[in-house]
Amino acid sequence: MRRIYKPKSKVAKADDTLVELRKANEELDRNAQTLIRTDLQLHRANERFDQQISQLHTLHRIGSSINSTFDLEVILSAISESMAKDLDFEKSGIVFLEKKISHKPLQSAYTGFSASEYRHFLDNFDELLLPALQSEDVYLQTAAYAPEGWARFLASLSISSLLLLPMRMKSRLIGFIAGARTHVTLRLTEAERRFYAMYAAQASGAIENARLYEALGQANLTLEEKVQERTKNLVEANERLRELDQVKSNFISLVSHELRTPLTAIKGFIVTLYHYDKEISEEKRHLYLSVLNEETDRLTRLITELLDISRIESGRIDIQWQVVSIPQAIQRVFDTLAIKAGPVKLVKQFPEPFTDIVADPDKLEQVFMNLIGNSLKYSPPGGIITVSGRRQQDGVLIEVRDEGPGIAFGEQEKIFDKFYRLDNETNRKNPGTGLGLPICRALVNLHGGKIWLESEEGQGCHFLLTLPLNRDKRVTAGGEGENGCPLKSA
Ligand code: ADP
Repeated sequence: MRRIYKPKSKVAKADDTLVELRKANEELDRNAQTLIRTDLQLHRANERFDQQISQLHTLHRIGSSINSTFDLEVILSAISESMAKDLDFEKSGIVFLEKKISHKPLQSAYTGFSASEYRHFLDNFDELLLPALQSEDVYLQTAAYAPEGWARFLASLSISSLLLLPMRMKSRLIGFIAGARTHVTLRLTEAERRFYAMYAAQASGAIENARLYEALGQANLTLEEKVQERTKNLVEANERLRELDQVKSNFISLVSHELRTPLTAIKGFIVTLYHYDKEISEEKRHLYLSVLNEETDRLTRLITELLDISRIESGRIDIQWQVVSIPQAIQRVFDTLAIKAGPVKLVKQFPEPFTDIVADPDKLEQVFMNLIGNSLKYSPPGGIITVSGRRQQDGVLIEVRDEGPGIAFGEQEKIFDKFYRLDNETNRKNPGTGLGLPICRALVNLHGGKIWLESEEGQGCHFLLTLPLNRDKRVTAGGEGENGCPLKSA
């Protein structure tokens, strides 16, 4: 079949061109749409980059500000302020928690909240905040979707959304950061969640460092205090050792001197009596024997007192608690000293009846024997030694007065020191150990009492001693206390 070429009409040509134009137009439209989409995507990506760069800036800024100090208070304030300034939270707070399981808020800082709002915020810690902090690393609560309790809480704080960022150290909750918006409801993208988690991690690091630094400082301080205390104790112990050493040297030299003196006399008289027995007159023999008797007594007294003081000082002394009548104890001492007293009058002044106390009768008599014995040594002939007693609120006060020369003020405490004796005529004539009064003080102290001297030179001595009733003491055989016969009371 033969094909006949028939040129297109002008109209048909125009139609074709129109179709092509339409197609090209459609293509253009598609390209334009793709372009717009790409531009939008680029724009969004740009925005995201901008946001991430600004977040990194924020992290960097807050990081350098909180890591430049170890002061916890400064760190907390910086974080709270950064939440408001850098992250646009109208109300924010940061709380450092107690180390204990209870996690009580310990220290905190806040911005934007009023004081009463912030108090109310923390009052809901146990009920709302703590469970939220334990549930998520970035916790967001918004008024629009909040359960009832939370909705009321958010409304009471006039906020529409609350972000909570727990701060953890080795998975232990050490605190949290809170940020609230008042009108805008916050929504979080994954990137924002990551950012807030990093923000909280940075804050935890700074807080933990500050806490460790503080703990280190505290430990240092304690260590320093301990070292100082130990050094002080050592210096004191050293001082005491030096004193004891001195006392020991004094003791040894005095004891050897005191023991040698009577021993030399004893030995001398025994040698004389042994070798010259026949040549010695009866009168002299009597004299020598009486010296021997006195010196042996002195030796015995010295040894007894040395043993007493050593037993008291080493704590090897037993107190036999019994019910004691002090007037009766004094009477026994008077009876023992009656012959020695000679022309000196011994007077007893006690109200009748006088309260009994619980004490060791032998030790009390030893105290009175020493005090009254000393007074006798110093009393002028015809002088009076008065022992009186008074009931006091918690015990009794006993006084021993004499009319001797008395003791100067500066010596009044020294006479209670071991081996201390005044340098006077009486002492030169009456050898002693200087142990009587220290023994008295130690014995009175063992009873829970005190002994001291009030005296004026030339006005006689006035020894005073207090003794508690000691009714709480367990009474040993030979006396009755609270569990036996009731104590008499004046
Ligand atoms: P001692 O009697 O063995 O010397 P004490 O310890 O009993 O030792 O007494 C210490 C010193 O106190 C005595 O040496 C004496 O100088 C002084 N003294 C004690 N009692 C009296 C007193 N009543 N009057 C004056 N001096 C006293």
